[in-house]
Amino acid sequence: MEKLAIFGGDPVRSTPLTYGKQYIDDSDVQAVTETLKSDYLTCGPKITELESALCQVTDAKYCVVVSSGTAALHIAAMAAGIGPGDEVITTPITFAASANCALYCGAKPVFADIDPETYNIDPRSIRRCITPRTKAIIAVDFTGQAVQLDEIRSLCQKHHLTLIEDAAHSIGTRYKGQPVGSISDLTAFSFHPVKTVTAGEGGAVTTNDEGLYKKLLLARSHGITRDREQMHHPTDDPWYYEQITLGYNYRLTDFQAALLLSQLKKLDIFAARRKAIAARYNEAFSAIPQIQVQKQIPESDTVRHLYILRIRSGALTCTRREFFDALYAENIHSQIHYLPVYWLPYYEQLGYQKGLCPNAEAYYGECMSLPLYYSLTDEDVEDVIHAVKKLIDHYKK
Ligand SMILES: *Cc1c(COP(=O)(O)O)cnc(C)c1O
Repeated sequence: MEKLAIFGGDPVRSTPLTYGKQYIDDSDVQAVTETLKSDYLTCGPKITELESALCQVTDAKYCVVVSSGTAALHIAAMAAGIGPGDEVITTPITFAASANCALYCGAKPVFADIDPETYNIDPRSIRRCITPRTKAIIAVDFTGQAVQLDEIRSLCQKHHLTLIEDAAHSIGTRYKGQPVGSISDLTAFSFHPVKTVTAGEGGAVTTNDEGLYKKLLLARSHGITRDREQMHHPTDDPWYYEQITLGYNYRLTDFQAALLLSQLKKLDIFAARRKAIAARYNEAFSAIPQIQVQKQIPESDTVRHLYILRIRSGALTCTRREFFDALYAENIHSQIHYLPVYWLPYYEQLGYQKGLCPNAEAYYGECMSLPLYYSLTDEDVEDVIHAVKKLIDHYKK
């Protein structure tokens, strides 16, 4: 048996691998530079160009780009009319922003449990969480795999709920052949550097509903409109605008839009590489009984954002923390996605208690995200697999 690096053995590789990172090439740099030299740094032509490009990628009718994925979720929640007294059902295995957007609107997040095999929100648990106060569901395509959209959409229709899909992980994913972004009432994307394509910071909301689109536009820009049809006191004065609701400044700059436009040209090759790496990990790990491989639903053709290594804690002599540290010593720097949102002290203070979602809590105790990004080489991938197998050999019961 190989001696683990954490006990003084040689690490599997000499340079560390992180779980995710961006890929920026010369064409990206050139696109940003050109836009910086143009007349518009914001509110210019790159914004509309990007919105149409995202409509093409997602098959959605309308798109509004914003300054972050968090802003996208916020304006989606505003457009859905979420407000004080409302309940919004979401998953605890997500980034806090998926639930925070309900709090921004004065509503109460309600956490449904995850499916123990797909790690996505479980439609059966959603059903148990629905009350007369429920206004919307925020379903997160965790790791890039689409949630069970048919089941969730029929729950929404039955109970008159708005479906907001948090697609921060899932740009490029298709559900039953249809791209994510054109299926739910509102779909929110993030373009943070660890996501599949990046604008530095950035986000977008897509929808097929014109009414929701108009609300998104207002929320992005202070609640201000220049559309005469929306005005309370329309005039012919060319400088005239009205603020008709309370919005924010969530605009994206044109040079960020230029970066994302350039990144989107590479979405297909990024997606293919991510799929290939996830397939290789699945192949290597599915034969190891101490590892649980994430279940893939046949409806989702998944562009994988995260690759989750789930160890079966009962089958190993180490804790997840020991496994994480030993992997780190081998120079594989994993990350944990995610701490259940309601465990965060802010949520704790709001009265959420441990034990609420047993599947999510069990998952949290066993998960680690392995390196997954476009520029990972085949050798890097084999190093990761080697390190995991080395640890399993050492720690298995
Ligand atoms: C990244 C992320 C967000 C927030 O996006 P930002 O662009 O970082 O604001 C929201 N939800 C999920 C699931 C994410 O992974």
